[in-house]
Amino acid sequence: AQDHRIARISSAIRVIPDFPKPGIMFQDITTLLLDPQAFKDTIDLFVERYKGKNISVVAGIEARGFIFGPPIALAIGAKFVPMRKPNKLPGAVISQEYALEYGTDKIEMHVGAVQAGERALVIDDLIATGGTLCAAINLLERVEVDVVECACVIELPELKGRDRLGDKPLFVLVSAA
Ligand code: AMP
Repeated sequence: AQDHRIARISSAIRVIPDFPKPGIMFQDITTLLLDPQAFKDTIDLFVERYKGKNISVVAGIEARGFIFGPPIALAIGAKFVPMRKPNKLPGAVISQEYALEYGTDKIEMHVGAVQAGERALVIDDLIATGGTLCAAINLLERVEVDVVECACVIELPELKGRDRLGDKPLFVLVSAA
């Protein structure tokens, strides 16, 4: 059953307090990857949701969106597009700046990786404030891609990132207190 799979995924995620700085409860998905059944269940739950939905692009956010995105893309017959930190992609890029607590950051995508009118799923490991997913949505929408939904393994609901996505649907497997 689905609940059984979710419970196993949830318990396979390790929480490390005060990483990378005091006050942050870091949700470590590397322990989920060490449990092949929980890792497979994670991918399966996303694939069950997105197969047959006419999604042609899975856009994964660096770095942990690169772990979950490709197996989903392969299983649903979509391409995988990496959305990277600045100055990593070798070709011409389109970039989107977004605000952090202090300062700004940027994500980049190769020009020509997606075409206007394509249907995309955006994937990352976790949504906190929602700033990263918002930037990814904006970037894809600037090139006229239809972002069907965002998906994360973990949501930190206290940070209300979901609200920041407006009416863009967000699907998550685990809610962390
Ligand atoms: P945000 O843009 O605030 O939604 O932050 C989401 C991004 O930061 C994701 O790429 C996460 O991997 C990372 N992140 C933020 N908070 C945490 C946390 N508590 N544990 C693990 N990763 C986090």
